[in-house]
Amino acid sequence: MKAPRDQHFLIDRKAIEKIAGMVDVAGKRVLEIGPGEGPLTKALLNRGATVIAIELDSGLVEDLKIRFAREIKNGTLILIHGDAVRCEIPPFEKVVANLPYSASSRITFRLLDIGFGEAVLMYQKEFGQRMIAPPGTPGVGRLSIMVQTYAKVKPMMQLSPKAFSPPPEVHSWVMKITPRSPPHPIADTDLYALIVRELFSHRRKTVRKGLKTSRSLLGTETVDRIIGTLPDELLARRPEELSLKEFADIANAGAAQPEKAHRSAKQ
Ligand code: SAM
Repeated sequence: MKAPRDQHFLIDRKAIEKIAGMVDVAGKRVLEIGPGEGPLTKALLNRGATVIAIELDSGLVEDLKIRFAREIKNGTLILIHGDAVRCEIPPFEKVVANLPYSASSRITFRLLDIGFGEAVLMYQKEFGQRMIAPPGTPGVGRLSIMVQTYAKVKPMMQLSPKAFSPPPEVHSWVMKITPRSPPHPIADTDLYALIVRELFSHRRKTVRKGLKTSRSLLGTETVDRIIGTLPDELLARRPEELSLKEFADIANAGAAQPEKAHRSAKQ
């Protein structure tokens, strides 16, 4: 039977300790999304972190309140009953979490938007593979480009379904994410996000055709400026064939003059 709301709890004690030790959390404010029954929360608290834990399930929140009554009272655990995709999140420095897989994408984009020092996050293996797919290869997508533009991503550990109860149908990857400045300057980050999203939503089309199809979202002037500025050779390629620099070149060609026609595509 399928577990409700991504509730596959990590029961491999060695894995829990290894994940909690992948970044230095002592004395740091660490965000944990989806603490579940709290095994990772406990490991982080034991290492001297102040944990901000956001859990959606009200039954689990009630159990966590009992299990961690002392830590909640002394302020080392801030327990929030909410949806990590949209709830208000107090300031934090690092993130360590076994994420709910159905919300991986929305949570990852949200975290990148908020900003953080370092993150250790568990994902479904295929999601992790997409995050690290190199630009210019067939497995690349919007997620790969956006994550690699703003962060260094490194797979740290693989986990089989046996590490969880109940076991999921998928394998898992633990990834370390370290934000950094984009390797190629981006004049307008909202336009960059929008262009990456639009090009991959027509991934079989060439850059030229993809841009023209998204004219209403990007703005006619922006699209004309890009097509008028960039070489035919680049415009004739598909998004999966482009490097990070070429995505930046496309967005920068569109941002040559300020234009307000586009809206944010970061979320
Ligand atoms: N961290 C625990 C562990 O490793 O055993 C539980 C991980 S379980 C894969 C994901 C947890 O996220 C569940 O406790 C689930 O209730 C919670 N969850 C699901 N969607 C959520 C959301 N949108 N915001 C916050 N928590 C969520």
